[in-house]
Amino acid sequence: MRSFDLLRVATLDEAIRSGAVAGRTDSDRMFIGGGTDMIQLLREDVVQPKTIVSLGNVLDKTIKLDATGLSVGAGATMAELSSHALVQERYPLIVDALLNSASPQVRNQATIAGNLLQRTRCPYFRDTGCHACNKRAPGSGCAAIGGANRWHALLGTSEHCIATHASDLAVALVALGATVSIKGPSTARHASLQDFYQLPGTTPHIEATLMPGELIDAIIVPPAMEGLSSSYIKVRDRASFEFAVVSAAVALDVDGGLIRQARVAVGGVATRPWRLPLVEDRLRGLQLEEDCVRSAADAASRGAVGRGDNDFKIDLMKRAIVRAVQAAGGIK
Ligand SMILES: Cc1cc2nc3c(=O)[nH]c(=O)nc-3n(C[C@H](O)[C@H](O)[C@H](O)COP(=O)(O)OP(=O)(O)OC[C@H]3O[C@@H](n4cnc5c(N)ncnc54)[C@H](O)[C@@H]3O)c2cc1C
Ligand code: SF4
Repeated sequence: MRSFDLLRVATLDEAIRSGAVAGRTDSDRMFIGGGTDMIQLLREDVVQPKTIVSLGNVLDKTIKLDATGLSVGAGATMAELSSHALVQERYPLIVDALLNSASPQVRNQATIAGNLLQRTRCPYFRDTGCHACNKRAPGSGCAAIGGANRWHALLGTSEHCIATHASDLAVALVALGATVSIKGPSTARHASLQDFYQLPGTTPHIEATLMPGELIDAIIVPPAMEGLSSSYIKVRDRASFEFAVVSAAVALDVDGGLIRQARVAVGGVATRPWRLPLVEDRLRGLQLEEDCVRSAADAASRGAVGRGDNDFKIDLMKRAIVRAVQAAGGIK
């Protein structure tokens, strides 16, 4: 690990004035929340900032539910959000995604904002012995394209990067239409969580649309619809403490076996948490029977590009969607 200055700020304004930049690799001033990802990246020299700005004492941790929806302060931990009684009652999809993430120890320490901005688990990104990684070293190439790419993305990729986004929580939040509240030097603004993440294109080292000094202040989730049922299916290589190979977050409004409304997002298969509006449209008005749901889930692969080792994910993604839709509809 290289040495760096640690800036312990006393107020949120001071953190914003520090000019730290989040969501990209090439910044020399970075924020740290719970540190569960950042410390690993620093130790392994994946990022090399000169200054780290600690948000530990200045982020709001309030979790609030009212008629306008759910608001979660960026500093709330994954454990605090998943154990909140009203969140368990009204937003079980969020709780399922969180309890399927990491371990109790990590969830006790990690913040919600840090979770959403954690870096990819692409092994080439995290191994500084690999010299071809556009996300870590812009312009150096991509070792995963033509290399081992079993863990990599099918959707939203470019010829410069095919890394998946790693957060389970983000998949559930995108399905529920969440927005992020962002505070910066001159303004406060909101962005839909899905659009907050940038596709890799030619600049995979830039992952989020944040200006210098801007930080995540809170997450807002629209009011939970009465009668909405949900399911989060996570397929992984071992039963716990493992990232998703494929995941599917589904929320449904079902009436007598008929799907009236559906929200569907997938993880482990895309460069950002990926909502599937076409699958949602096709599910609307269908019965929960497996054949009907399967034909709707087929639309998930539109635009998907397999790179060899990860071709199996195309079918696995569709199966995960079918299982999640049926589980949300009460079919085991
Ligand atoms: C062994 C292990 C297993 C894991 N398994 C899973 C899993 O299955 N599913 C899953 O979803 N996650 C998993 N994780 C990842 C874990 O959830 C993240 O490490 C954690 O959520 C990051 O939160 P943090 O507060 O510690 O962030 P930090 O490590 O402090 O920061 C992460 C990033 O967020 C930025 N940041 C932090 N706060 C803010 C803010 N308010 N505004 C702007 N930028 C900010 C930082 O600059 C940094 O880039 C795992 C982690 C470990 C170590
Ligand atoms: S997929 Fe992205 S993160 Fe992985 S090696 Fe290629 S450029 Fe780097």
